[in-house]
Amino acid sequence: MRPWRPSACLLSARSLRASLVAVLLAGITVAAGSRQLIELSATDIATLVSAKDPLEQLDPSNPSSHLAKILIPRVVDTEGNTQVRNYIVGTMKALDWDIEEDSFEDDTPLGKKRFTNVIATKDPKAARRVVVAAHFDSKWFESGEFLGATDSAAPCAIMLDLAETLNPMLESRATRFDDGEEDDDDVADTTLQLIFFDGEEAFHRWTDTDSIYGARHLAEKWDNTYIQANQKRRLMTPQATELSTMENLMLLDLLGAPNPNIRSFFLDTAWLFDEMAYAEKRLGESGALAYDEEQEMAPGQWRSWFAPRTEHQGNYGGMGDDHVPFLKRGVSVLHIIPLPFPKVWHKLSDDASALHLPTMRRWNLIMRVVMCEYLNLRPSDLKTRGADPESTETGSFVRSDAELVRRSQPLDLYNNSSMFVSRGELYSS
Ligand SMILES: [Zn+2]
Repeated sequence: MRPWRPSACLLSARSLRASLVAVLLAGITVAAGSRQLIELSATDIATLVSAKDPLEQLDPSNPSSHLAKILIPRVVDTEGNTQVRNYIVGTMKALDWDIEEDSFEDDTPLGKKRFTNVIATKDPKAARRVVVAAHFDSKWFESGEFLGATDSAAPCAIMLDLAETLNPMLESRATRFDDGEEDDDDVADTTLQLIFFDGEEAFHRWTDTDSIYGARHLAEKWDNTYIQANQKRRLMTPQATELSTMENLMLLDLLGAPNPNIRSFFLDTAWLFDEMAYAEKRLGESGALAYDEEQEMAPGQWRSWFAPRTEHQGNYGGMGDDHVPFLKRGVSVLHIIPLPFPKVWHKLSDDASALHLPTMRRWNLIMRVVMCEYLNLRPSDLKTRGADPESTETGSFVRSDAELVRRSQPLDLYNNSSMFVSRGELYSS
């Protein structure tokens, strides 16, 4: 991704408003906007922290973790890309989620390429869905193999772990709804969907046509796909499209390096941004963020990653990323990306050594709390599933693995390759 030019920001903000107005005038049900969340108790939060080891699947030194499976070169239309896609599909199929592989060809500066987005949906018949997304492809570099640990292997692994953690609670919620025990239609009709975008990265310089190939394709497709009516969707107008049933799009990018600074970019998701900060606050004060020898996240010492919103009260243009084609069509977007970007951004050193385990663990916990509250899930539905609380809190603290860290190549691609936009160009243009 890259920062937008100011003119583009203004244009986008205007077109977003225009889209919203157009959608409202058309009378289409738009499910965007804030909702009252049901706050979890301290016991519920403690259950979420301990029910499933929040680090096991994010540990690059554990060869069977989701992260290790994804942390390979996975450039568009290569064997590694297919391998990672198959791993994601297999993991989500094992949970019995509905899988769509959205495959298409597009022209790139390196010729025609085949792209495949993966869309996993808990309940494909639900009237609405909250979407958590990240890109699974890695950037192509002529001079070496790029692993893209923060960009975006870690976010993809967090999403898989989130689905596994929430799945039993989503099933219990569905049972409650079927049995008539759940009467909040708003909540019960909203499902969770994960999108793993292909082709986010530019092959050469980031342009409108050389970047976010998968997101551009999917947003256009869903904008032109009218949904089938069914029992759960009976209240929707006939002209509702797949795109109009997206309640919020939460895009995760460049996560996993320590001390991210996260800001709110868009007013219509400011409430959800606040919810994330509130989840973080409760986790921090409960002591759940403290991990192993790490004392920076202990109660009274942890510092919020979320920038106070009083400093940023308007829409901020943000940057080019997978959310843009959706944003331009009126979808509510929460863009979770650190500013500044991690120091390893688009360098070969964005490997396992760039990842900070307590940071990834903290992201995992924040996402668990936020999505439980968003979807009205009950952690008390979780069985302990044989988890050993001891191993959860005293897991190994290995930050790198010889196979995963490319120490022998301290090459700064950013400064050495002519195919990249320079930092100066990025910020001054
Ligand atoms: Zn990137």
